[in-house]
Amino acid sequence: MPRRGGCGCATVTRACFKSPVCPEGLGTHSPTAARGGAPSRVVGRRRSPPPAFGGRYPQRSPPPALQSHAPSPAGPRPYGRDDATFKTGPSGHGGEERARRRAARGYVGRGRHDGGVPEGDTVWLTARRLHAALAGRELVRADLRVPQLATVDLTGRRVLEVVPRGKHLLTRLDGDTTLHSHLRMDGSWHLYAPGERWRGGPEHQVRAVLGDEERTAVGYRLPVLALLATQDEPQVVGHLGPDLLGPGWDAAQALRRLAAEPGRPVGEALLDQRNLAGIGNVYVAELCFLRGVTPWTPFGEVPAPQKLVVLAKRLLEANKARPGHVTTGDTRRGRMHWVYGRAHQPCLRCGTAVRGGEHGPADQRRVAYWCPRCQRGPVPDEWA
Ligand SMILES: [Zn+2]
Repeated sequence: MPRRGGCGCATVTRACFKSPVCPEGLGTHSPTAARGGAPSRVVGRRRSPPPAFGGRYPQRSPPPALQSHAPSPAGPRPYGRDDATFKTGPSGHGGEERARRRAARGYVGRGRHDGGVPEGDTVWLTARRLHAALAGRELVRADLRVPQLATVDLTGRRVLEVVPRGKHLLTRLDGDTTLHSHLRMDGSWHLYAPGERWRGGPEHQVRAVLGDEERTAVGYRLPVLALLATQDEPQVVGHLGPDLLGPGWDAAQALRRLAAEPGRPVGEALLDQRNLAGIGNVYVAELCFLRGVTPWTPFGEVPAPQKLVVLAKRLLEANKARPGHVTTGDTRRGRMHWVYGRAHQPCLRCGTAVRGGEHGPADQRRVAYWCPRCQRGPVPDEWA
């Protein structure tokens, strides 16, 4: 009967107990792994318990054009560290674009960025905290600072719930109204007490302000912010595949959607939210490492692809209640990821220098990291 580590993973060795790094990347062996997750402070005192977090699942409908709700202009470049009351968006350590540029010019990451780009677990945590702060409350302050919503007045509306759908945030208000937002690369939400200094970035980066007498939620650099009827939510999230952290998660359906294009590179297929919703580029790099394939491997050639889907679910579930995307079980800076953000550093498993490059279609290039020894499969000629 093999012993299991604190993470419950099947691959437990003597080293597994000695090292905080789980061989399967699923563990929390390190006592430091328990850090994080809790809001940095409790703001105000709740007058009544909010509705349960989670929300009803929207009806599926044929996928319409996703951006029919006119996203706002992209916000300015990211700022420095995120030291706001709680972190709901990118880590503030750079973001995907910066990571891509760094990798392209051979940047030797020091693990300072935990991915930068919100993934499904980040959005889930954001929704949970916004829900706890706003649900059941009447808005006394509602300021939407995007041109198409500049004249909208939501004051007096009651927030019913805030729910995540993949990487989308749906703030449902009474009167059959939903405020749809998406963090994309740089967006984030912050909560502040009355009189507290807003620290999420310059004033001109504020896109949304929602609050009552006790708390204010401020959305910074939200590239998508739109109002729609709640019953029309399928127009903006109906195209999504099974939601990894949603109540309707369906692994078999996600696998069927992925397998429908067996020749598509696995990295691209995992990023396509129509296949399964919630995976971003950090998890793509880490999932490919953990399954021993390069991001360019055709999905049809990935061994035991069902394990890829199961692993994706486990990783997001393990991280949804804390900031960051820890895939190694080690929350120490620079050791949270096996390969992501670690170009030119030794692979945590075999010691070979991790490589950095790009993957994805020409118009959606994303940074790629992989270990040439631990991961098998095709790589572009320039990185072969
Ligand atoms: Zn390796």
